[in-house]
Amino acid sequence: MEEICFLVQGSAEEPYKVTFRKKANNLSAYCTSSWGANMKISIKAKSSSGDPYTVDFLIEKNKLSVFCDCQAGKFGQLCKHKTELIAGDQSRLFDESEVSKLKELETIIPQAPELKNIAAQIAESEKIIRREQSKVKKVKKEFATKLKEGIEIEKS
Ligand SMILES: [Zn+2]
Repeated sequence: MEEICFLVQGSAEEPYKVTFRKKANNLSAYCTSSWGANMKISIKAKSSSGDPYTVDFLIEKNKLSVFCDCQAGKFGQLCKHKTELIAGDQSRLFDESEVSKLKELETIIPQAPELKNIAAQIAESEKIIRREQSKVKKVKKEFATKLKEGIEIEKS
């Protein structure tokens, strides 16, 4: 078995270790941080309350798991912070300087195109829903006011 290791600079303080391993006729490559088996990228996401949420991307070999400390995320549910960051939506960044982390994530996420497409579809649909919900809310409010104040009736 032959093994070649490279240390690659990323946005984290510590370099990543990329290992190429040749065993019989198989060549495998994997990337880990040099300080442990896992690689973690933490990105602060904007929230509606003002305080940011932290979205953690954990990468171990070919597996990516994503965690968010928002209310939904704590229960392992999908939230807009996860989907929008996976989709590469920079407007979700709490700190604009973390755009490099987002770019890095794009290069690291295994099978990024598929993941990114699904996340982008969800994020886009949710944006439409939120926009339409606020429209409905506004119309309902106006309608309630009209009902309260009285609506003119055309006399025949
Ligand atoms: Zn979240």
